[in-house]
Amino acid sequence: MAVKIEKKIKGYSVVKPEDKAPPVKADAVPRAEAEAGLASADVIQMHEKIERPEVLVGSTYKIKSPLVEHAMYVTINDIVLNAGTEHELRRPFEIFVNSKSMEHFQWIVALTRIMSAVFRKGGDVTFLVDEMKAVFDPKGGYFKAGGVYMPSLVAELGAIVEDHMKSIGLIHDPDMSPERRALIAEKRAAYELRNDRGGSKKKPDVSPAPPAARDEDVEVTGEGASFPPSATMCHKCSAKAVVIMDGCATCLNCGYSKCG
Ligand SMILES: [Zn+2]
Repeated sequence: MAVKIEKKIKGYSVVKPEDKAPPVKADAVPRAEAEAGLASADVIQMHEKIERPEVLVGSTYKIKSPLVEHAMYVTINDIVLNAGTEHELRRPFEIFVNSKSMEHFQWIVALTRIMSAVFRKGGDVTFLVDEMKAVFDPKGGYFKAGGVYMPSLVAELGAIVEDHMKSIGLIHDPDMSPERRALIAEKRAAYELRNDRGGSKKKPDVSPAPPAARDEDVEVTGEGASFPPSATMCHKCSAKAVVIMDGCATCLNCGYSKCG
C-alpha cells in the first residue's frame, strides 16, 4: 500500500517485528495509526529524486601517472542518508577530476558525469570498481609508487573509488582478517631481517629518485608499505611484492603464497 507523505519528514524509526501490531484484520486497525506506522518505517535509500544538499563531505585523492604530465586530483563527495539514526549510511554522490593536463579531459568529463549519475541512481554501485579496474590500456599500464601495477588510468580511478568505498564502509575487505595481516607482517619482518645487511635499519628503497622528484610522488597506498626492489608482480593483488622465501614465492602485500 502506497502512502503519500504530505508533511516534511523530520525523523524516523523502524518498526521491528516485535513492535508490529498482532495480525488482526486490516480494517480493525484505525487508518491514521496504520499510516503513522508506515511513515515511521521509512528509511531513506539513495534514489534519483534526492536533492543535493548545499554542503557535502568528501575526499580528494591524488593520481600521479607517467601517462599524464601533471598530477590529477580526484574528488568524491558523499551524502549522508538517515543521519543520526541507526540506519545512517554514507554513500558517494558525485565525482570530479581536476588536472592541469587537458589531453584526457573529454573522456574524463564523460566518465565522471556518468559515474555521478550512477551514484545517484541508488542500488549497488560497487560494480563500477570491478568494471573500471578491468580496463587495460593497449599501450600497457604503469607501476605506481609502492610497486602496484595499474593496467590503465581508468583502472587507477577504479582503485581510488574502491579505496573510497572501503573508507566509508560500502565495500568490506573480507579476506584481510587480522590473522592474515599478522601473517603478512611476520613474513615481511622475516624477509627484512634476512636482508638486513650491515645492521642498518634502512627501509628498502623502491625508487632511487632524487628528492625533488620524490616530493611529487603519490602517497603509497595500503599500509604505506614499500617492497624490496627485487620483488616481482603478484598475480593476485597486482603489487610488485612477491619475494622468494624458503624456496617459495610469497607476496608481502596480500599474503598470497604458491606453497599455501
Ligand atoms: Zn599479492
